[in-house]
Amino acid sequence: MKVNILQTPIDYLKGVGPNRADLFRKELGIHTYQDLVNFFPNRYLDKTRFYKINELQRNSSEVQVVGKITNIKSVAQKRGNRLVADFVDDTGKMELVWFRGQKWIRENLKINVPYVIFGKTNWFNGVFSMPHPEMEPVEEYKKQLRTAMQPVYPSTEKLAKSGITNRVVNKLIQQLFVETKGEFYETLSTELTTELKLLRKADAVFNIHFPQSQELLSRAQFRLKFEELFYIQLQLLIKNMLQKQKIKGFVFEEIGQNFSEFYKNHLPFELTGAQKRVIKEIRADLGSGAQMNRLLQGDVGSGKTIVALMSMFIALDNDFQACLMAPTEILAIQHYNGLVALCKDLEVNIYLLTGSSKTKARREIHEKLENGEIDILIGTHALLEDKVQFKNLGLAVIDEQHRFGVAQRAKLWRKNKVPPHILVMTATPIPRTLAMSLYGDLDISVIDELPPGRKPIKTVHRYDSNRLKVFAFIRDEIKKGRQVYVVYPLIQESEKMDYKDLMDGYESIAREFPQMQISIVHGQMKSNAKDYEMDRFVKGETQIMVATTVIEVGVNVPNASVMIIESAERFGLSQLHQLRGRVGRGAEQSFCILMTGHKLSNDSKTRLETMTATNDGFEIAEVDLKLRGPGDIMGTQQSGVLNLKIADIVKDNQILKSARYHAMKILKEDPSLNLEKNKVLRFTYAQLAKHKNIWNYIS
Ligand code: ADP
Ligand code: MG
Repeated sequence: MKVNILQTPIDYLKGVGPNRADLFRKELGIHTYQDLVNFFPNRYLDKTRFYKINELQRNSSEVQVVGKITNIKSVAQKRGNRLVADFVDDTGKMELVWFRGQKWIRENLKINVPYVIFGKTNWFNGVFSMPHPEMEPVEEYKKQLRTAMQPVYPSTEKLAKSGITNRVVNKLIQQLFVETKGEFYETLSTELTTELKLLRKADAVFNIHFPQSQELLSRAQFRLKFEELFYIQLQLLIKNMLQKQKIKGFVFEEIGQNFSEFYKNHLPFELTGAQKRVIKEIRADLGSGAQMNRLLQGDVGSGKTIVALMSMFIALDNDFQACLMAPTEILAIQHYNGLVALCKDLEVNIYLLTGSSKTKARREIHEKLENGEIDILIGTHALLEDKVQFKNLGLAVIDEQHRFGVAQRAKLWRKNKVPPHILVMTATPIPRTLAMSLYGDLDISVIDELPPGRKPIKTVHRYDSNRLKVFAFIRDEIKKGRQVYVVYPLIQESEKMDYKDLMDGYESIAREFPQMQISIVHGQMKSNAKDYEMDRFVKGETQIMVATTVIEVGVNVPNASVMIIESAERFGLSQLHQLRGRVGRGAEQSFCILMTGHKLSNDSKTRLETMTATNDGFEIAEVDLKLRGPGDIMGTQQSGVLNLKIADIVKDNQILKSARYHAMKILKEDPSLNLEKNKVLRFTYAQLAKHKNIWNYIS
């Protein structure tokens, strides 16, 4: 089969040889002809037009100009000389500058001969200059065949040093097209290419490397981006479909005693519309016969706990057990106390298991779990230990998902012969854009409404120089009976320095507020010392909590209404938002004060402005995604989304949506891709399933 030529090792390409092949493999991950085809330029030089000198703009990218050198001179500078040439056309004058290779240039450049020059310009003292221009006499320039848009390929230091310049790569790709005769099989159905007016595969691949015009280049990029995103979506959707078919779950048909009794008589408040909707979604899942894998997203304070409890009731009502796992002991205890209080009028047995549970208590729990006396077990990852065996675990709820890895989720799965239904709750909003590409295989529910009556937190930005005013504000709030958090950054690499900042901060606060009680919590403390300090704050024995970000997750102290974040410029957006979520939990107006120095980067400014402008976690997540790119957002590292070769999840969001829409539409009509018109999709999908890297076969 002809396809095989693309699987030829790169060593065989004329002009490559063993050394270069080695470099290609190590530096660029290029092993085969195929990989080289899919080695896309990261930008293009626009040599489609010539600029006149009087048309040059500051901040323009590379430009191409025709003119003559009228004069060359050496100019002394701090260290050594630079060579400066006057370059003129019929509209004006600019300078060409060289810092290296001056001798060669002096000897070879000709005065008063027309040259085409190309490069980036600088503006200085009223003159444009171009350092180290690419130049070629117009005579030579005319002789060569060239494409209008010149591709620039990604490179590495090693490649550059080994003489594998852009020009070399270019030539090798030309050779590749010669050897393969430019034959690339179509990978999208005619229906898709016609409906979306996409370039054919072969034309797209050709134009991405040798653009014949700006228009063809754009269409080539569009086609390849679409294809990449389309196959990711197709895979995710099929995976989701198969999972539902294959993995049978317990069918919870009953909506019984506990659920109804609680709903009718013990709900402490009216559920929000969003909570009702999400509970319905979960109920439908639990009754569907397929195993549930649902991600529940809801901003801090949106009321996820009650949703978890109602879901667990459904399991209980069908004679199954349920568990709730939290990332820290403090949180587990909080959940335990909260749920016990909510269930006080029901006959539901709730137990707590954490790392600190005593041996005797543990033994009792193990026993009662296995004989079914325990209905709901709440705890930390102690729940994952092998000794913890359930009689029949029907639903596992995981709170604050990003603290747990995928591996832990899998461990819970295996607690039963038939995997329990799984509900993962997270307060880290994942932008819809990302969720679509990352969790296409999880179902997602969103609580996008806060309980009524919440006062939005007032957020302000203050400079360190205004600290005294901030202290005065703290004093007033404490006088009114409120409590205050003061949070310091903690960044792994400079842990020592952060620790010092924290201690300095603690001391200055202790000096400033001698009559107040202060708690302090940081990562280097033993966990029982931490809990003790936390507990004093929870009980209201201390008024101020000085801490690093260890308090980020889930702590609930409704009386704390002020959050001061020190060095706020050092925090990421989602972290700032999480921290802010620690206040605003009670009836009082809450405040968040972001403290910074005067020097701020543009990104920091954007983050601070976003925080003061909105309380909406999803809006914040979208800004965060734009600032940081998907790579840094929680959990994306393992997702493979980073391996996108040509599409960009943020910038190509519209294409992503279209790709998902079309993938869904096709699967709806033809779930197993059996129709004749979808044959090419089925073939490509089958190839894809065999490999990790999508692009290995989308050609
Ligand atoms: P999170 O989503 O951050 O886990 P919680 O479940 O802890 O939020 O709920 C935050 C607070 O809001 C709790 O004190 C809870 O009792 C309260 N709450 C939840 N839902 C409602 C509602 N529908 N009406 C009023 N208060 C609610
Ligand atoms: Mg919570």
